[in-house]
Amino acid sequence: MKDKKKKRALSIPNTSHITENADQTRLLGAKFAKLLRKGDIVFLNGDLGCGKTTFVQGIVRALGNEGFAKSSSFTLISEYKGKGGKLFHLDLYRLENVNIWDLGFEEYLYGGNITLIEWADRLLDIQGDKTWEIKFDYLAPDKRKITLQKFNKKPLPTP
Ligand code: ADP
Ligand code: MG
Repeated sequence: MKDKKKKRALSIPNTSHITENADQTRLLGAKFAKLLRKGDIVFLNGDLGCGKTTFVQGIVRALGNEGFAKSSSFTLISEYKGKGGKLFHLDLYRLENVNIWDLGFEEYLYGGNITLIEWADRLLDIQGDKTWEIKFDYLAPDKRKITLQKFNKKPLPTP
């Protein structure tokens, strides 16, 4: 019964999930990855150590990309090449008071690739039909609440 539950694909994008170890978070990321299409942007929001990068590892693996996502607080942008196109992983943790459009973010946001952004709420306030928000809540040392949300009301705004 439990196994059956695990294998079922995620079909409802607006749901909350509890994970109790890093592998469960990776598995959730991998299931979520199946919902992603070219041009999608995923905002990953939540405190340090909440599992954002761990979730990204599941996505990177599921989309058949080379490489393994590392905690990227010291790396602004990582690029993975996979069968389905490029996947970007951005970590805005160290950026403050910067205009992201000055940094040439258009390519990441509107280049038709898939872009995953940690700490997006620091700098970005855009929502559209291609954006997802994943919220991470720390419940206990091994327990996280992960909420998946799709914004699909309006087209993605351009700068
Ligand atoms: P963030 O990117 O949000 O700063 P990381 O994914 O880098 O967080 O780190 C999360 C840490 O918490 C890892 O050391 C991981 O092993 C641990 N951990 C414990 N339980 C979980 C869980 N349920 N989901 C994700 N990570 C967990
Ligand atoms: Mg991280």
